[in-house]
Amino acid sequence: MKKLSLGESITGTCMNRCLVVVSRNTSIARMQVHRVMGAVEGIAYEWRGADDWHNVLFTGEADIAVCEAGHLLYPLADGLIVAALLKASQSSQKNLAVVCRSDCADLRGLFYHSDIRNSYGKVWLVGAGPGSADLITLRAIRALAQADVLYYDDLLDPSVRAYCPGEQVHVGKRKGRISHSQDSINEMLYRSVSEGKTVVRLKGGDPSIFGRAGEELDYLRRRWIAVEIVPGVTSASAASAAGLFSLTQRRISRSVTFLSGHSLDDVPHSPDKKTFVYYMAASKLEEVAHNLIREGVPSETPIVLVSNAGAWNEASVYSTVGTMSAIVAQPPALLIVGNVAACASIEKKALFTGIDPDSVKIKEPVVHQPLIMPVSKSETMLSYKTAEPRPTPLDLSYFAAVIFSSPETVDAFEEVYGNLPDRLLCYAFDSATREALRRYKVSPWRIVPCPIRGKFTDGVNRVA
Ligand code: SAH
Repeated sequence: MKKLSLGESITGTCMNRCLVVVSRNTSIARMQVHRVMGAVEGIAYEWRGADDWHNVLFTGEADIAVCEAGHLLYPLADGLIVAALLKASQSSQKNLAVVCRSDCADLRGLFYHSDIRNSYGKVWLVGAGPGSADLITLRAIRALAQADVLYYDDLLDPSVRAYCPGEQVHVGKRKGRISHSQDSINEMLYRSVSEGKTVVRLKGGDPSIFGRAGEELDYLRRRWIAVEIVPGVTSASAASAAGLFSLTQRRISRSVTFLSGHSLDDVPHSPDKKTFVYYMAASKLEEVAHNLIREGVPSETPIVLVSNAGAWNEASVYSTVGTMSAIVAQPPALLIVGNVAACASIEKKALFTGIDPDSVKIKEPVVHQPLIMPVSKSETMLSYKTAEPRPTPLDLSYFAAVIFSSPETVDAFEEVYGNLPDRLLCYAFDSATREALRRYKVSPWRIVPCPIRGKFTDGVNRVA
C-alpha cells in the first residue's frame, strides 16, 4: 500500500493508503500503536520504532507519532499538534497521545471521535480590570456569562461576579490570608474542566501581570486543556489614567518596567528617562528605597503611590525616593518611580446619585452610586424611592461635588448620608431639585445647574 504523503487528503482514500506510525522502539510502544490504530476503523498502517519521532514527523517520513501523554514535552515543537488524546483502556495503562504535523487537518479529523478532549470543557483566565466594574472588557463579560463555574480572587469591585450565572467559588485571600494554595487552585480548575465544564478563573487587573496566570496556564496546558486568556486593564494603566499622566511621557520616560515587591533584588538601573512600576511593594517602601539608592538612583527622584486605581476612591501620595519610606499606603497601591511621577495628579470626582450616569455632561470624572430606584405608581407613571437595600455611604472626602437628578435623590441622600458637607458643590438637574436642595439647607451659592446630555428623563416622574 502507498504511504500517505503529508498534505494529501485522506478523505475517501484512506482505505487504500498506509499511514506510517512512529513510536518508541519497544514492544510496549508497538502495542500502544496497535491499540491507537485499532480505534480508527479500516486504516492500514506501518509501524516504525524511532526515539526521535519529532524529526521523523517533520521530514515527512511518518504521518503520526504515538506516545504516552505524560511523556510529551510541553510545549510541543512548533508545527506539531496533539491530534488526539486517547483514554487508557485499563486503569493500569496511561492515556496515549497521537501527534501529527499541524497542517494535517485530515489526520486530526481521523482521530476526532476518539479524542477524550471532546468531553473536556475550557478554561478562561480572565482579567477583571483594576477595581471598577466598568473597567472590565466586553470579552470578559461574555466569558463570565458562559461559565458553569467561576473561581474568583478578591476583587475591589465584586459586582462583576453578577455577570456569571454559574457556580461561584472564592479562592482569593481572606483577611490577608490565602484561602487556597496555588496547587489546590490548579487541581480545582483541572477537575472542573475535565468534567466538561466551562471554567472562568477571574483575577484582578490583567491575569498575565503578577497574576500567576503562568502557573495555571502551564498546569492546564501540560494536561492538554484548552485555555484562553482574556486580558484586563492592569493597575499600572489605571494608575496612570487616574493621575492623568503617561508612563512613557515623551522626553521624560523612554521605557516602563513592571517590578514586583516580592523580588526586590531585581533592582533596575538609574531611572533617568525610565519609569519603574512596583506591584506588591506598598508595605516595603523602606526596602525599595534602600535598594534604589544603593543602585545609584538619586534620592530626589519623584515617586507617586497610587491606591485603588480605577476605583471611586483612587488616591495618590507624592514623595521622593529619599523620603518615601515614611508613607503609609492604603492598599492596594502601586509605587511609580521616575520623573513622570511628578506629572501625576488625581482629580476629585463628582458623585452621581440618580439612575442614568450617561445623562450627565460635566467635566469632572463621575462616580455612580444610585441612591434611588423606580417604583411603578400606575401603568404609565413611575415614581422613585430610596434604593433597597439601602446603599452604604461612601467616604465623601474623595469627592468635590454631588449631582442630584431629582428631588427624590436629595431625599435619598439625606436618608443615606445625613449631612451634606459644606465643601461639596451641588449640581441640580432642574428647578424642583434646586428647591429640594434649598429645603435641605444647602446654600444657593453652592448649587449650580447640571449640563445634561440628550433628553432629560433621569429620576423624574415620566410617562412610560
Ligand atoms: N494582575 C494585577 C496585579 C496583581 S499583583 C494587575 O494587573 O493589576 C497585586 C498588586 O497589584 C497589589 O499589591 C498592588 O500593588 C497592585 N494593584 C492591584 N490593583 C490595584 C489598584 N486598583 N490600585 C493600585 N494598585 C493595585
